[in-house]
Amino acid sequence: MIALALFDGLRRAASGFVWKVRMREQARQALARHFGFSAFRAPQEDIVTAVLEKRDVLVIMPTGGGKSLCYQLPALLMEGVTVVVSPLIALMKDQVDALQARGIAAAMINSSQSWNDQLAILDDLREGRLKLIYVAPERFRAESFRRALQGIPIARLAIDEAHCLSQWGHDFRPDYLRLGEARKAMGNPPCLALTATATPEVRRDILDTLELSEPATYVAGFSRKNLAFRISRVEKDEHKMVRIKSLVEAHRTGIIYCATRKSTEAVSEWLNCEHIDHVVYHGGLSDDARSQAQERFLRREVGVAVATNAFGMGIDRADVRFVCHYELPGSIEAYYQEAGRAGRDGKESVCELLFRPSDRRVQEFFLDGANPPPALVHQVFTTLKLHADDQGEVLLSIDDLTAKVGPGTNPMGVGTSLGLLTRSGVIERFDVAGQRIRGTRLKNPGMKARELPLDTPAMDEKRRRDYQKLERMIDLCHAPGCRQQAILRYFGEQSGETCGKCDRCARRSGSDLREGNAEEVLQLRKALSGVARMSRREDTYSFIPRFGRTKIMACLRGSEREDLKEAGLHELSTYGLLKDMPQAHLRALFDEMEASGLIETSGDEYRLVGLTELGARVMLDGDTVKLRWPATAASPSGEDEIDYDRHLYDELVRLRNQMARERKNAPAYTIFPNRVLKHLAAKKPQTAAEAQELPGIGPAKAKSILPRFLKVIQAHARGGAVA
Ligand code: ADP
Ligand code: ZN
Repeated sequence: MIALALFDGLRRAASGFVWKVRMREQARQALARHFGFSAFRAPQEDIVTAVLEKRDVLVIMPTGGGKSLCYQLPALLMEGVTVVVSPLIALMKDQVDALQARGIAAAMINSSQSWNDQLAILDDLREGRLKLIYVAPERFRAESFRRALQGIPIARLAIDEAHCLSQWGHDFRPDYLRLGEARKAMGNPPCLALTATATPEVRRDILDTLELSEPATYVAGFSRKNLAFRISRVEKDEHKMVRIKSLVEAHRTGIIYCATRKSTEAVSEWLNCEHIDHVVYHGGLSDDARSQAQERFLRREVGVAVATNAFGMGIDRADVRFVCHYELPGSIEAYYQEAGRAGRDGKESVCELLFRPSDRRVQEFFLDGANPPPALVHQVFTTLKLHADDQGEVLLSIDDLTAKVGPGTNPMGVGTSLGLLTRSGVIERFDVAGQRIRGTRLKNPGMKARELPLDTPAMDEKRRRDYQKLERMIDLCHAPGCRQQAILRYFGEQSGETCGKCDRCARRSGSDLREGNAEEVLQLRKALSGVARMSRREDTYSFIPRFGRTKIMACLRGSEREDLKEAGLHELSTYGLLKDMPQAHLRALFDEMEASGLIETSGDEYRLVGLTELGARVMLDGDTVKLRWPATAASPSGEDEIDYDRHLYDELVRLRNQMARERKNAPAYTIFPNRVLKHLAAKKPQTAAEAQELPGIGPAKAKSILPRFLKVIQAHARGGAVA
């Protein structure tokens, strides 16, 4: 009996197998006959098979990956029509033209056509003459179309750009939300959803709205094999500049992305000092200045662009050899999109992110601005009411309005509030002739703030998701293992292989990995015990983190910080255990411990550091590990090799800091970075010409800033100080 059932199952499986083989063969023939392609791209064949098996399918592939074939080819092999939903008429037209050119019975129906044309196509549809019909989502509202679909066999509903149905995607289209109902009205044909961008949230929305049942899901094609990803932990702006310089020197052509205009300007200023030709691009520049910058970069007159994320929509320069992120981006999507502008020509390129944990605050500021609390929206509304004339109109710039809302208000939050009020129909905005500001009109001046139609739960939810995206971005910076794999994992693509070229992969194969001498191993074990002592121990190898890295390091170095004492941490046995180790060295050691998986960072907002099991074994059992041991005098710029006059240097630093204060607290290194001051204190040039031979002093600064420094140097040579 059992044997029989087993046999039966086997036979069925075998015939299923035969059917599959035959189906695949048919698909391959159709691929050659109708499309003229000799082979499927990696996941296309599996997708086509799943479509022919009438399963619900979700396909996530980057643009150009070959998604359309996944429904066009099966459409030819199945009975009935395949209904394709696409958001843009232009896109539809291209596809339909291409299909018709191949002799395939495809058509589209939309509002750009004459009524007679539409009727003719509806006829073709009813008579079963079409294999593919392309429509925009709003078409399902048309009674004539719905009726034409009744009673004809529908092979499948294919939904292109499926992320449009998610409010968390970047181009939400309300009509997409109704596609779930449209599907039901069509009698629930199998559904194929396709998109190039689907984070876990967007993906969940697609599954829910379309009610996909046990969908076969394919995520493929996101890996960029010619890109080497690197995430470098840096503590100071100056170290960031050192990394940028080495990127420019090694790769020449690239983009440096900054989070704010201010940092764009700081980087630009510094590049000037280094005589590195570049263009600057951010939203605060005039349209002219921006298009000029873009043009110069595109025409290859300049190799380096310093830009905020406003740059990049239109740039399509294939030979970008490096992309550097000067600051932490707000999400992995944003990061990958920007980093992905490197190496479009397929040649080896580098993406380096300069990660300083405290930079998260910049992103938090943006997140708060993009997600104002409902109370702020209310305040903005009340302020508008207060300043409206009898027509209900207000003529105030965002900055002026912000000031009127109250001190400490985030202007971005006010801007977003205006957007929310506009979208919910409470206000409208209009251009004012001859002025740069836009006016605001209250549509119903009598409305009370508490009557505002705000979707507060949705606002809260969006805020929560935005914050989560930032946390995932920071997780990526701390994640052990291959960077490319970690990124693909985030997008849902499983990749068995490590990339072999990111910083993590490179360190695994590096020749500078070694076991460490007795002294180094002892220091490592001390550092690990510092982490362990400040964790909660669960069992032999399990240490749950309780403190962040800064506190643990401060404790190991025996810092006098008040907060350590208040918490009683100075009484721990590990307090001061590495008293003699310079801060930079200990930091480098912690970086290495994290990169090699001895410690791990976890927790949102407060990042806590704990031991991994590997770390615990090294500490407790004396297991050996190969590390890239930090050099004792860790100095990323090599600046300590300069033999300079310490006294003079201190004077120059004082002058530099004072000048920074005079310039509205400009970052000090934009005057002169420490390295330049060290060169000055070493060479002691007496004239501007002499000084300009030193690295980092360009003609502009020689004129504007240098003279006061020369005075100090000259006075120092005479043995006195300047007043
Ligand atoms: P997507 O919709 O994912 O952006 P498309 O479906 O427009 O991508 O395909 C991108 C390009 O790749 C098209 O020019 C298409 O003809 C081509 N293509 C798709 N599949 C194959 C294949 N198996 N072999 C060769 N070219 C292909
Ligand atoms: Zn890798």
